[in-house]
Amino acid sequence: MSFPQSSLPPVVPVGGPSDETDHRRQRRLQHLTDASIALLLLLTLGIVFVTDLRSPGRDALYAHNASFARFLFDPLHVPIAELRQNPQRQEWIGAYGGTAESEAAVRRGLDWLARHQSVDGHWGPDSLHARPDGRCKKGDACPAGGSEHRVALTGLAVLAFQAGGHYDFNNSEYSECVRHGLDWLAAHQRPDGCLLDRDHGTGICNMYEHGIAAFALADACEMSASLQREPDDRYGQATQNAVKFIHYTQHQDGGWRYTEDRDGPSDVSVSGWQVLALKAARRAGVTEVNEECITRMEGFFKRCEDKASGRTFYQPGHNLPSDAPTAIGMLVHQFILEQPDSPLIVGGAKYLASEAESSFKHGRKQPKKKRFAASPGDFYTFYNGTLAMFQAGGQTWKRWNNVVRDTLVDHQCDEDEGCRRGSWDPLGRWSPEGGRVYSTALAVLTLEVYYRYQSELAKVYPESAR
Ligand SMILES: [Zn+2]
Repeated sequence: MSFPQSSLPPVVPVGGPSDETDHRRQRRLQHLTDASIALLLLLTLGIVFVTDLRSPGRDALYAHNASFARFLFDPLHVPIAELRQNPQRQEWIGAYGGTAESEAAVRRGLDWLARHQSVDGHWGPDSLHARPDGRCKKGDACPAGGSEHRVALTGLAVLAFQAGGHYDFNNSEYSECVRHGLDWLAAHQRPDGCLLDRDHGTGICNMYEHGIAAFALADACEMSASLQREPDDRYGQATQNAVKFIHYTQHQDGGWRYTEDRDGPSDVSVSGWQVLALKAARRAGVTEVNEECITRMEGFFKRCEDKASGRTFYQPGHNLPSDAPTAIGMLVHQFILEQPDSPLIVGGAKYLASEAESSFKHGRKQPKKKRFAASPGDFYTFYNGTLAMFQAGGQTWKRWNNVVRDTLVDHQCDEDEGCRRGSWDPLGRWSPEGGRVYSTALAVLTLEVYYRYQSELAKVYPESAR
């Protein structure tokens, strides 16, 4: 059986375009092919777009679409501010160790923080009283407000909102909260750059509070800069002055200590906050960070290393009964020295993963609300450890995260706990001093780790586990 030759369109012009007509026909064919490809592309995009508008079903088409969206959004290759505010993060955080439960805990935690911001923009122990200046309802006040550390608590709360993608400039659910907090911080700065609240607390500069607040302001500027925006002038200026003050207060040994008094030995914990503030300020591009300051700081952290165990001690040759310094030592190598292959990180990660697992081996058998008390864990170690272990990645990250994430999720106050709902009772070391804003902000920041910063090494969970 054969067709008459004339009914078949010429697939390839025989002998090439010999004259004007052949040439035109070939071009028309080419246009037709181009048009078909364009049409096909439009159709494909149309299908993707239409399926995007559909409510999430479990059919194959939606599953395909979900993986398509993940393909388009690569957490490792977007500006950091984009990563934090990505509305589809539930689609991809599972691969980094986050869960639907951890995300729900973050939402409830931010809601509690927003409900407890004081009228003038700060967070403090007074934000919890059932008084006109407090935000709890009469007869339902949240207990355990902690001590007067308004500058640090405001810094931590602002950091928690910013880590969740709420910035002063992006018209997000909590943008106003963030602006209000940043404004309060910028208004509480001495001319020499120290961030402090002269009316409450001791009235003298506290380097913990200064470092945390400087970090919050610098982080705000970093988010602007990462989206090619000019940071708000006041926040940029406040960050610049705060960094100057950090330079000024550096001790001879290269670290920092409780006050602006530069005599005596430094410690890793106070120093860690100054280092993170410097890092964010440098990335924001709002101020120069003195290289000599970084070199001296590196020397201080080196002297605190315990080479045998891979740990970082609180001070040279002297440790605390806490693993936070080890985590801070890792952070310094990851974030400011940019030495991700440092043996200290490898050693520290192994040590922390084993500690987390053995500490909670006993705790896991306890009723879920008692696990925390049954372990030597504390919010400060969880926060620093999680930030560092996420950067270290690999199996040690998984071992650490599985324990810490679920412990925190289990300990959040439930819906039936009145005004406390969404907060964390300030359990463990240092929490009575910091109070409920401290424990809640640190817990939220810990559970936001999956999108707060990028980490190539932390994508170690199977995607199907989502
Ligand atoms: Zn309350």
